[in-house]
Amino acid sequence: MIALSRLACMLAAGLVLAVGSASAVLAQTSEPDSAAPLSMRDDEMRMINALLDAFMEVMAPDEQAILREIDVRIPMDYDVTRVVAYRDDSGRIIEVSFGFFGLAIQLCDDEVLADYYAAQDPGIYDKFEAYVTSLNEAIDRNEQSMSQHALPRFALFAGIPEETATARAAQEDFKSYAANLRTSAIAFVLAHEIGHHVLGHTDMPPPESPAVSRERESAADRFAAELTMRVGMPAFGALPALALFAAAEGETLEPQASHPLGTCRILAAMLDSVDRLAVDERTVHLLDQSPDMMPGGERYEYFRTLMKTNCS
Ligand SMILES: [Zn+2]
Repeated sequence: MIALSRLACMLAAGLVLAVGSASAVLAQTSEPDSAAPLSMRDDEMRMINALLDAFMEVMAPDEQAILREIDVRIPMDYDVTRVVAYRDDSGRIIEVSFGFFGLAIQLCDDEVLADYYAAQDPGIYDKFEAYVTSLNEAIDRNEQSMSQHALPRFALFAGIPEETATARAAQEDFKSYAANLRTSAIAFVLAHEIGHHVLGHTDMPPPESPAVSRERESAADRFAAELTMRVGMPAFGALPALALFAAAEGETLEPQASHPLGTCRILAAMLDSVDRLAVDERTVHLLDQSPDMMPGGERYEYFRTLMKTNCS
């Protein structure tokens, strides 16, 4: 097994969000379906809205017009499979449940914890990967309402003492590393759903075959990979959370695959985007922050090898 969480280190420190002048699109929360009191934290809502502003700034005018029409909703429920773009009588909608956000954010934190714990336990990456796979399988079994209390926690799963995990999470370097991962993961998910609107998928009938479905998902992934790179937030490090996202959106696991299929799908989209951006003199500067992700670079080649050995 190849440890995906090792890839997290490649996230450039100090990613900067370009914040637009005014929110053209404002994400909103809705009332909880259950009696459980839930609330998105203010800083998470600010992060989502800042991302939408940043996307707006770099999009083409026709894409901006579509983004302006989108109503981004954060339903306050634990349905981790509720990540969807659609169109109805009321207009263009993106829904990302509170539960999904919580799970993606938690997984980014767990990935950082695995990295920090590797010195004590060299097998930690395999445990992290097994943990991600177990979450994917739970989603595949349609456990749509995995409450946060019912989810096995990574520290417990991997045998990391709770006091060690708590102390690590309180460190400033841990917090900024985790914040970068969280932001780039959420950016990719939002950009992918925006992609379904911009690429016209929400105007089409539902896919009539798995092949068509796969085609649309790959196109939305490529759109997301490029858009997040254009705002300086490449999601290269956030693969485990994004593999989970692919599962939540309906991607299934291949029984014999050593990796969730979603990982390969998203990895392919990222590499395609890098290849495209790198050969265009108008866009090659977007890779300035990640020189080792340039074709021929160390990380880039690592990704290519990962693809070749796991995703064919
Ligand atoms: Zn999708």
